[in-house]
Amino acid sequence: MGQFPAYRPRRLRQTPLLRQLVSETRLHPGQLVLPLFVRSGRKLRRPIAAMPGVFQLSPDELLREAAKAHEAGVPAVLLFGIPDRKDARGSGAYAANGIIQQAVRSLKKELPQLVVITDVCLCEYMEHGHCGIVHRGKTGAKILNDPTLKLLARIAGSHAEAGADMVAPSDMMDGRVRAIREQLDKLGFGDTPIMSYAAKYASAFYGPFREAAESAPKFGDRRSYQMDPANAAEALREVALDIQEGADIVMVKPALAYLDILYRVKTQFGYPTAAYAVSGEYSMVKAAGAKGWIDERAATLESLLAMRRAGADILITYAARDVACWLKEG
Ligand SMILES: [Zn+2]
Repeated sequence: MGQFPAYRPRRLRQTPLLRQLVSETRLHPGQLVLPLFVRSGRKLRRPIAAMPGVFQLSPDELLREAAKAHEAGVPAVLLFGIPDRKDARGSGAYAANGIIQQAVRSLKKELPQLVVITDVCLCEYMEHGHCGIVHRGKTGAKILNDPTLKLLARIAGSHAEAGADMVAPSDMMDGRVRAIREQLDKLGFGDTPIMSYAAKYASAFYGPFREAAESAPKFGDRRSYQMDPANAAEALREVALDIQEGADIVMVKPALAYLDILYRVKTQFGYPTAAYAVSGEYSMVKAAGAKGWIDERAATLESLLAMRRAGADILITYAARDVACWLKEG
């Protein structure tokens, strides 16, 4: 490379347009996915205290929110459901007329162009709040892997039948992508892609989400299935497994504290890669922004740009609509 004084990097930083010409990474609304929370009711917008600007929405309000995001240029939403009743089999998750299935049908009817992705998991639907079937033995409670796979496959199938464009398993059970792929194919949804939460860490940054999705575990924690934040090589094995099992898009979650994982996943596999900027990431910027301690817009855009630079193709963020509007304003 060039040497000073012949090479002066500042030459190309002199004006906004010059900087734009040599910009290596760009943000575009077409990369964004907006997570939304839906529960039964009408005209319901229940605010999430720890996530300003985020609500639990009834299906009619969900439609309005999705339409506004779509209008702003956000191509996709990711749906989480809050059922009226929870049980030990998570039956609300795969009920033909469950809250997600209703929401998907109404979104696809009113906004057929919008990409509707569904979260596939059991925690919101289980009375104990875990992502799998719980077995209580003498030595304590255990989350059973293989029996859970059948339920996850059933959930994914019911979402596809309701019209979901893509399913996104977030449970972190071993073998779930294969089970879901087989079920989708069996039901005739061979063209429905799977975005797997491939490297999902047991993270403190999920705190505010549990209020939003009412999915906090009633006992224990999720460390027996979600990944240890200390591990990177293991994340690559997790991603490799999901790809072998049929994942079309792989996700790293959370995003900002795991940019090294994003980079390695994208570099090693070259697969479409999603970064999930989780609730804690959103809430921290919102809180500091509200206090005037940080510029919310600049900090949000810089964080998302960092995820793109690290290798993310898809950015899942609660700020998706704001971001799309900011990007349009330029
Ligand atoms: Zn879960």
